[in-house]
Amino acid sequence: MTVPYYEPTLAGRERQYLDEVLSAKQLAGDGKFTKACHALIEEETGTHKALLTHSGTGALDMIGLLLEIQPGDEVIIPTYTFVSSANAIALRGGVPVFVDIRADTLNLDETLVEAAITPKTRAIMPVHYAGISCEMDTILAIAQKHNLIVVEDAAQGYGATYKGKPLGTLGALAALSFHASKNVIAGEGGALLVNDPAYRLRAEIVREKGTNRAQFFRGEIDKYTWVDLGSSFLPSEIVAALLLAQLEQADAINERRVALWETYHAALAPLEARGLARRAVVPNACRHNGHIYWLVFESGDLRAKARDLLVAEGLTASAHFAPLHNSPAGKRFGRTGSDMKVAEHAGDGLLRMPLFAHMEPDVIAQVADVLKKL
Ligand SMILES: *Cc1c(COP(=O)(O)O)cnc(C)c1O
Repeated sequence: MTVPYYEPTLAGRERQYLDEVLSAKQLAGDGKFTKACHALIEEETGTHKALLTHSGTGALDMIGLLLEIQPGDEVIIPTYTFVSSANAIALRGGVPVFVDIRADTLNLDETLVEAAITPKTRAIMPVHYAGISCEMDTILAIAQKHNLIVVEDAAQGYGATYKGKPLGTLGALAALSFHASKNVIAGEGGALLVNDPAYRLRAEIVREKGTNRAQFFRGEIDKYTWVDLGSSFLPSEIVAALLLAQLEQADAINERRVALWETYHAALAPLEARGLARRAVVPNACRHNGHIYWLVFESGDLRAKARDLLVAEGLTASAHFAPLHNSPAGKRFGRTGSDMKVAEHAGDGLLRMPLFAHMEPDVIAQVADVLKKL
């Protein structure tokens, strides 16, 4: 039997809600289930407005449109992130400016941000890797000093906090993901969080193909028309029905994952003590959500050896991001804003251990046993 490195956990009411939505025959977006998801996310996070999207990528693309990124505008992002953070900028003709990450959290290194700012910089996009927050007070202070907008890629951050504040509520706008590999899932799905009310109306317009349809449905206008750039970003009610069942159990899912994460952390301490791999450090300001248990091995060779040993025992471990500044598109569309030593090391050495809410805790002891052979 093979243990995958991720697997969706069914929370309970998925089939019931899917049955309901199919019986009601209202399958297009923004129906009862979407509204219930919006209300739950707003209550849980305190964001001004949550808007479901078909993916985290879609929410990031909406952010690119909402910021009205112009050709040549720069946005500072970590090089160690998913391609969607950079695409959202490059699709508008903007330039992702890649900055290195911190060795302890693998998040944007806030001490390198200021040196990457130029007169063309418009925004900073921190990415909360593995559901552990970036050093947001420092990033927000830099942004304020240089008159920049902060937008969060909180794709991995649902349910985690920084100084008690939910990830996704610290910037003007934020993207969440409910992809099948995340903690709370819709198969494919995401949400835009609008924290600065100034973006609310345009966010609804961008999401509805550039029309003021949302205002029309609220009875605020007589007919709807094309008023701005936009596309189709909303998911169907089928996706929202599945997601609602998950959102209702988000706390339980995250608690379970954090407990497994803690077990890994204790079990793998000896590996770090032997100097073979580094474990994450969770800063005091952060409460994470157990999204990923990662190790950064001292070398790519050691990582390959660890992965082979695990795979031989049926335990799937996976590499994650390749730093974007070295990718073909990163070189073509982006600019490098710092030295990249930490990200390059993480790209070569990082391994994600199997972790999902319904995973048997025995897996962790097995993983630790296997890695003793290194
Ligand atoms: C998963 C992820 C995304 C993209 O989300 P999708 O829902 O798969 O489109 C973006 N950024 C980061 C950091 C992610 O982990």
